[in-house]
Amino acid sequence: MNIKTVGIIGAGQMGAGIAQVCAQSGYDVILFDASADAVKAGMARIEKGLNRLVEKETITAAAALDALKKLLPAASISELAPCDLVIEAATEKEEVKNAIFRSVCEHLKPEALLASNTSSISITRLAAASDRPGKFIGLHFMNPVPVMKLVEIIRGIATDADTYEIAVDFAKSLGKTTANSEDFPAFIVNRVLIPMINESIYTLYEGVGTVEAIDTALKLGANHPMGPLELADFIGLDTVLAVMNVLYDGLADSKYRPCPLLTKYVEAGWLGRKTGRGFYDYRGEKPVPTR
Ligand code: NAD
Repeated sequence: MNIKTVGIIGAGQMGAGIAQVCAQSGYDVILFDASADAVKAGMARIEKGLNRLVEKETITAAAALDALKKLLPAASISELAPCDLVIEAATEKEEVKNAIFRSVCEHLKPEALLASNTSSISITRLAAASDRPGKFIGLHFMNPVPVMKLVEIIRGIATDADTYEIAVDFAKSLGKTTANSEDFPAFIVNRVLIPMINESIYTLYEGVGTVEAIDTALKLGANHPMGPLELADFIGLDTVLAVMNVLYDGLADSKYRPCPLLTKYVEAGWLGRKTGRGFYDYRGEKPVPTR
């Protein structure tokens, strides 16, 4: 199958990033979100991202314009009908994703492929909620999508060999490197990364260190480019909590229990950069630790 038109569902930080790299790689892209404001914000985010690449002379102004012309904002999920591949990048909640698959499948042609960018939820289970488990696959992009080189590829139990091969070729066509993960909770990257972030939140919760001390310690002591709390804010604390819950429920091991302080931040709506506050307050000139 030849992929020409890619639909993206969810125009948040991941959906916008995926839409941008697809458009830059020459695909026609249709971007949909349940919130019309999110589509608008996603389109603005892509334009800003492309302009930044032009300023840095990574791409030409003509290439940025070509990419923008490839993007079509959609007001209704039915507008995804011409897509050869639809990538779902909506909120990390299984019931939200299942409802999306049920509704998008009504509009897609039978041969169209479906992918989820889920950070942690079982691809086999999500595929079962669609009408095409053989044509369903996990394509897990990293954040920020235009910068990060990896795409994890996750096959569900029913994923066809053809679907897998097309998905790998597609990820490579975006300039990405793929790594295969078996379909177990949180796959490879987040199985390792998110418990490390959760442990750093426990370190804060138990008073072992301040936000600044923990981030400085990991940056200079383990050579991490970002501190774990800074990274948690960047990912979104709701997503971090959702992944911990998937690990906790899916592996039934108490070592994956989410830190109560993480839950508290999420309950407060302090979700990190995207809401202006998390372990740091981003509303001023520069980020200030909130603890
Ligand atoms: P986000 O909160 O920035 O964006 C989610 C978007 O989904 C929002 O714009 C919301 O309006 C939209 N949405 C919610 N319900 C919808 C529906 N029914 N139909 C259409 N759109 C709907 O979240 P994000 O960080 O972009 O994460 C999106 C997905 O990508 C999640 O599954 C997450 O686990 C995964 N992911 C996130 C990261 C990360 O670092 N943030 C990395 C890899 C994968």
